[in-house]
Amino acid sequence: MNEQQLTKNIAKLRERVRRVAEKSQNANHPVQIVAVSKTRSAQDIRAAHACGLTNFGESYLQEALEKIHDLEDLPLIWHFIGPIQSNKTSGIATHFDWVHSVDRARVAERLNAQRPPGLEPLQVCLQVNISGEGSKSGVTLEDLPQLARRVHELPHLKLRGLMAIPAADAEPCRQRAAFRQMRHALAELRALVPDADTLSMGMSADMDAAILEGTTMLRVGTGIFGPRNR
Ligand SMILES: *Cc1c(COP(=O)(O)O)cnc(C)c1O
Repeated sequence: MNEQQLTKNIAKLRERVRRVAEKSQNANHPVQIVAVSKTRSAQDIRAAHACGLTNFGESYLQEALEKIHDLEDLPLIWHFIGPIQSNKTSGIATHFDWVHSVDRARVAERLNAQRPPGLEPLQVCLQVNISGEGSKSGVTLEDLPQLARRVHELPHLKLRGLMAIPAADAEPCRQRAAFRQMRHALAELRALVPDADTLSMGMSADMDAAILEGTTMLRVGTGIFGPRNR
């Protein structure tokens, strides 16, 4: 993609985050931006890094591993944000810094066992199924405490917080209601894990609502790189 356009998109995004955060009591500063680079080329990621971005989010393991390899010369932080099949945990545990989409104990246990010795603990968010029907992924709010207790025990994982992908909703007040539930769920989680500090929520279409409800990590793809072709 055109570097001038990329520079412009990133500047606009930062300005928007700042402007919306100013309006809210709940807003957290600073809000980190994870640039969602699924389907984008290594060259696009290199350009985004030149524009000051360090955190990149990927959903498809095979594609991600190629790019991580191509970009080894850069000090990038890689976030796995896609659904996790049990047979993919080894690649994730070995090559990523963060995983946002842990939603069951079996996956957490495998990631823990497969995290190579010598690396920092894998930074983990638990994916919560916040608006029911729509998404199949994510632990229910009801089952969240039990999963959190299990993950908290695993020495090679560090439980950082919660992630959600609410059902796409055009209504800002319904978007906010889902994100507000997440904010409250993190507050409850902190009774168990006091240093859990991360709310991974908000994408290109619902980032304002997420910022207003206290997101600490936006996951933005099209708002940075433009429309995806697939
Ligand atoms: C693709 C994706 C995003 C980014 O979506 P955009 O609408 O392009 O900003 C964020 N989070 C997850 C989990 C995704 O799969």
